[in-house]
Amino acid sequence: MIRVQRIELPQQLADHAAELTETITAVAGQAARKKLARELWGHTTHRRKLVTPLRQVLRQMAHGNRCCMYCCSDLSTDVDHFEPLANNPLRTFDWLNHLLACTECNGKKADQFEWKNGEPLLIDPTREDPFEHLYLSLESGEYEGLTEKGIFTRDVCGLNRDDLPESRCQARDVVALIAGNWLHAWENGHERRMAIAVRTVQEQPFADVTQFMLRQAVLPKAHKVFDFELGPDALEQLRHPHLRAALLA
Ligand SMILES: [Zn+2]
Repeated sequence: MIRVQRIELPQQLADHAAELTETITAVAGQAARKKLARELWGHTTHRRKLVTPLRQVLRQMAHGNRCCMYCCSDLSTDVDHFEPLANNPLRTFDWLNHLLACTECNGKKADQFEWKNGEPLLIDPTREDPFEHLYLSLESGEYEGLTEKGIFTRDVCGLNRDDLPESRCQARDVVALIAGNWLHAWENGHERRMAIAVRTVQEQPFADVTQFMLRQAVLPKAHKVFDFELGPDALEQLRHPHLRAALLA
């Protein structure tokens, strides 16, 4: 899971969303609002004119190859309601409540949403840095919760489900190998190869792995974090200021 920068919604879409929110607000009673919100969200016209364009804007915001904003796989197909429609139908068409998610994450979190001390227990990657709540083991590819929010988010979204940890380990190895390729190209002045290396890393799924490696590489105890096969060399390479600048751009 990785920090995502939300961009502004085109005015036409924002106006359409505001009209639908007004329509739901005009109905009395939570049950009736939920029913109407579901109907409007699933309505063919609104899906074509609003939900599909919303998905396009979310894809522009997503890291890597349209990474799911929860698990960072590249199978993201859904416009997810961060605060579920069932909890708050008035936020069904609220742009600040929309995230791009894979069907697995969207289905797993479903209606599991809790508040504590006036804020959601689920991490919203557009509002906060997930790495303040989650630690990624580069050895196992599994997420560990550092805080109550981190543990809740990991468990509700199933961030360590199925083959996700193994896939993160593969992404880690790609970053390590490509960093070596990039350095070799840098030393030999092969700009095209450097660009290909950077693009290869940027377009692979699990952008969280790359960002975590870059972040950890410059910390004092980095050698402990990079204690895996291919790790020590990758650590030195990921400290190269030009490679860091290219990957963090
Ligand atoms: Zn996902």
